Amino acid sequence: MEEKMPVSMDAGLGRSAPFGLRGGLFESCANHGCNSGWLHPWRGRHAPVFEGGWTCSAACTAARVEAAMRREMEARGEAEESHRHRIPLGLVMLEQGWITAGQLRQALAAQKAAGSGRLGSWLVRQQGVSEQLVARALGLQWSCPVLPLEFHNAEELAVLVPRLFVDAFGALPLRVAAGKLLYLGFEDRLDPVVALGLERMSGLRVESGLVADSLFRLGYARMLRAEFPPVELIEAATAQAAVHALAKSIERTRPAESRLVRVHDCLWLRMWLRPQSGPMPERGSVRDLICSIGAN
Ligand SMILES: [Zn+2]
Repeated sequence: MEEKMPVSMDAGLGRSAPFGLRGGLFESCANHGCNSGWLHPWRGRHAPVFEGGWTCSAACTAARVEAAMRREMEARGEAEESHRHRIPLGLVMLEQGWITAGQLRQALAAQKAAGSGRLGSWLVRQQGVSEQLVARALGLQWSCPVLPLEFHNAEELAVLVPRLFVDAFGALPLRVAAGKLLYLGFEDRLDPVVALGLERMSGLRVESGLVADSLFRLGYARMLRAEFPPVELIEAATAQAAVHALAKSIERTRPAESRLVRVHDCLWLRMWLRPQSGPMPERGSVRDLICSIGAN
């Protein structure tokens, strides 16, 4: 405080008070288009908070959700799979001297005759090639590490991601290191869209890698048995209907923080019911809503 200023009601309330009291009883609405003024001390609304900003009314919440949704839809394609040419797995393994030309020929023939199955699994099953070598070759093909399944605590990790993303996109959370880094495993191809979505939602840096077949299956089955945060699945006919549903859910839940991220064709809204102390949400304090738009 400047001591020279006369201490009067005018000076206090008219100038410095609004900013001095921000974050306390007085908050300004985060919706830029809000026309009901910035001071709402009597409404008793401290929630909901969407993406770091409090909104004063259902209309303002909807306006902010709509802007976030537009941002997510426009970002489409930025993180989509690069169509960079990848050397076929068989060639990678041949080049490394991990298989012979004969083994490759036979595995390819078996794959063709069966009309199914990945080449890697045919090499393992039919040619007795080690699963670890196949995983290493996939790692070379995707220029990513092969990740272990050690210290995999499915129950602890399940708070980070909706079950649907594990199930539908085959994204397997493996471990959080130093409270900062999330190792995310995939079976035979990375999914940078899911990785980026998780990174933005959790605030953790995501390191993607491949996991050898049998380990992946083990971790995946374990993960799907874990208890995930409650989730609401919504199919909206139009973008406007989606905004309405998301905003309604935020208004009803009154989260201390919430965020919207698009992952492939899903809009993922996460709501934290209480302020959190770290990137791992407290159990029971998270609600997810997954919304798809106009599938038909
Ligand atoms: Zn407002």
